[in-house]
Amino acid sequence: MSANPIDLHIIGGGIIGLTAAVMLQSCGVNAAIIDAHRIGQGASIGNAGHLAAEQVFPIADASIIRQIPAMLLNPLGALRLDWRYLLRLMPWAIQLLMNMRPAPFNQSHQALLQLNQNSIEAWQNFSNQWQLNDWVQVRGSLLTVEKPSSVDALSAHSRRLNDLGVVNEKLSQKALLEQEPALQNNQLAALFFPNTGHITNLSAMITKLNLTFRQLGGVVIEQCPVLDASVNDDGIELITQQGSIKALNVMLAAGAHSKVLAKKLTGINVPLDTERGYHLMLPHEQHRLTLPVSSLDRRFIMTPMDEGLRLAGTVEYAGLEAPANMKRAQMLLNLAQPMLKAPLNSSDRQPWMGFRPSTADSLPVIDKVGRVFLNFGHQHLGLTQAVISAQMIRNYYLNNPQAIDPTPYQINRFKKPS
Ligand SMILES: Cc1cc2nc3c(=O)[nH]c(=O)nc-3n(C[C@H](O)[C@H](O)[C@H](O)COP(=O)(O)OP(=O)(O)OC[C@H]3O[C@@H](n4cnc5c(N)ncnc54)[C@H](O)[C@@H]3O)c2cc1C
Repeated sequence: MSANPIDLHIIGGGIIGLTAAVMLQSCGVNAAIIDAHRIGQGASIGNAGHLAAEQVFPIADASIIRQIPAMLLNPLGALRLDWRYLLRLMPWAIQLLMNMRPAPFNQSHQALLQLNQNSIEAWQNFSNQWQLNDWVQVRGSLLTVEKPSSVDALSAHSRRLNDLGVVNEKLSQKALLEQEPALQNNQLAALFFPNTGHITNLSAMITKLNLTFRQLGGVVIEQCPVLDASVNDDGIELITQQGSIKALNVMLAAGAHSKVLAKKLTGINVPLDTERGYHLMLPHEQHRLTLPVSSLDRRFIMTPMDEGLRLAGTVEYAGLEAPANMKRAQMLLNLAQPMLKAPLNSSDRQPWMGFRPSTADSLPVIDKVGRVFLNFGHQHLGLTQAVISAQMIRNYYLNNPQAIDPTPYQINRFKKPS
């Protein structure tokens, strides 16, 4: 297809593929991104924009089991299972449940902590290097509570995180409302996480990264799904909708769509499924909040962005094919309004659904197997972990030592004993 000598073909141009592409291309690796659609239009454009370094525990913990009955009864709750998808979800769900046992839960927690502890500095350096500072803001974020019974839980969470080195400050209601005067006084207390941040304009940042990659000499091939892949003695063959490619090296970064290609490229069946999430963008709400505000009790987040206020969250197990149920995006308005003093302007609101790429142990796959590089499965934290993951891929590619222990993210953890 391309006459250029491409060193590395990257499958998927979301934030994971794109950050790695820019980093490698700037190190002299001639890269091409192949995307099934347009660059950066998957989960990476519609997420909550939160650089959520404080989220160091797997989302799925044992408390989820207690929520299952309520979940099944409430189609618009924070967690939804599409019954028609249950059979296909089962293998993944069983492994997810097994990973809630204390030992594997703690292993995943330690590995998330390691990635997240390094994620913000990585983003800041990357942002300085590639002029992203208009959009990459590290000014902190808030986690609020409103049920009196949650105040003690918040204090315990605060102590636990501070002990782990995840710096946070407990704010009284007064201090919280001074920080965010638009919040209603039903918000009783909060944690402030100074070493976290948010992206104020995902679309602008992705456009800039795409441009930077091309200016560095990178090649972008859009509207070109990779349909099949095989590894043989001569190299790697990718069958795409636009023809076949003989590739020297390949990086798989197709987000929630990576499972089948990972099997083809490595022989390993990764327990990867999708936790679908929704957002509702309120374009006339630019100035309501100054920082991202998550609610522990309501389980969603409000992020101030240049394009408006983004309400985001919810988890839906319904696979990659079922149509979006935009009622789940609309319901975010009902969650947000009671947290705010003045009525939200919801005219021209835009609902959106995207696919979180979630492994059963809540950890991404960041690895190298021969000439195949793997960079997918970042679940709820792909934006946060994009640059640190790119650094690890760069180190693998250039045979540099890894700055952090790469073992927990290796694909072999899913290899069945023979
Ligand atoms: C509602 C919601 C809120 C979220 N909030 C946050 C947050 O605040 N902070 C955070 O850190 N993370 C958040 N996330 C998670 C984050 O968005 C994802 O982890 C991240 O975007 C994954 O990036 P990616 O590049 O792996 O996947 P994607 O952005 O989905 O990109 C994958 C790309 O691969 C392409 N592709 C797929 N299949 C093929 C194929 N066969 N051939 C070629 N190309 C292919 C797709 O077209 C797509 O462009 C959120 C997610 C959701 C859904």
